[in-house]
Formats: sequence, C-alpha cells, structure tokens
Amino acid sequence: MNSSVVVGLGSSLGVRADAVRTTVDRALNGRGDVAAFATVDRRGDEPGLLAVVREWGAPLHCYPAGELDAVDVPHPSDSVRGHVGTGSVAEAAALLAAHELGGGELVVPKLRGEHVTVAVAELVPLTISTDCTACGACLLTCPEHALRPAPGRPVVVPQRCTSCGECVEVCPADAITLLRG
Ligand code: SF4
Ligand code: SF4
Repeated sequence: MNSSVVVGLGSSLGVRADAVRTTVDRALNGRGDVAAFATVDRRGDEPGLLAVVREWGAPLHCYPAGELDAVDVPHPSDSVRGHVGTGSVAEAAALLAAHELGGGELVVPKLRGEHVTVAVAELVPLTISTDCTACGACLLTCPEHALRPAPGRPVVVPQRCTSCGECVEVCPADAITLLRG
C-alpha cells in the first residue's frame, strides 16, 4: 500500500497541542504519509494546531468558512455552523484539500478529542481523464486489482494501488496520470 492522506482539523480557541496530537494519532491509526493538514482560516494561527502540524512537517491549507460550508460532508452540524459559519470544519477541510491535491475520499469521519475534531481523507493515487475509451486494458493489467469498472471510465481503489505505473504504460489513450510514485 502507498496511501497518502490529508488531515482535517477543527478546534476551539486555546486547544492544547497534546490533545491535538493524541486525536490526530488516533485518527491516523498508523498511517504515516500525511500530504497536508487543513482547517478553517480563523484557526490558521492556533498554537495548539500549528505545533502538531509543524511536527509532521506537512503544509497547512486554510479555507474560509463559506467555502467549507459548501462541501458535502457526512456529519454537518447546525450548532457548529452557528459558531463558525460552516456546518463542518474537519471533514470539509480534509475533503477540500484532497480535492486540491487531485481528489480523495473521507476514510476517517469526524473524530472528537478534547476541544479538537479530526477527519482524514485518503488521496487518490492517480487520475483517469476523459480521453479514456473504456477499452478495459488497465483493468486486466493491474497486478493489484486496484482498478474497477465504472460508468464512463474505471475508478481506482486507493488502498490497493501501489503506484507501480503498469496501467499508465498499457493505456493506449494516455488517459492515466500517476499523482505519486
Ligand atoms: S498504478 Fe495502476 S497498475 Fe499499478 S497498482 Fe495502481 S492502479 Fe494498478
Ligand atoms: S487502458 Fe486507458 S483507455 Fe483503456 S480503460 Fe484504462 S484508462 Fe481507459
């Protein structure tokens, strides 16, 4: 497996770094490749969050509440919307940053810690463009069975893909782009 993830963070003012660290570790559950963290812009300089982000050495993406509120998430909250202006911070920020990085899906929904919430989105390892002719060659070639048929063009199962590149080589339409190697 060669998965890469984005960690979404929501917090109260004054959240302790220890609480953030513990909750991030629980959410990651051993995943080590964090491509980015993400949160709402008004928490972009929150010391407890920044301390943990710096420990990981990954960039922090910050978004306005209005942009986050437009993201479709599994657990929106009217009470959070009343306080922050968006129904979701952690889940929405993780999905928005994953989208910026090529696409991804939520694999750990909102996890609550002490004054902090954490969500994790897994990045897709590759993209398949509209040049795909649905010939099926990549489906037959993938040694990990990481590509599945879908309407229009195949989809990748990130957890299975090892980024070996064999599907890229075999595609007659040059439709596949690896996002990480
Ligand atoms: S890069 Fe392509 S062929 Fe290789 S594991 Fe991923 S989906 Fe399969
Ligand atoms: S090999 Fe290329 S053209 Fe054929 S199904 Fe896969 S992505 Fe589409």
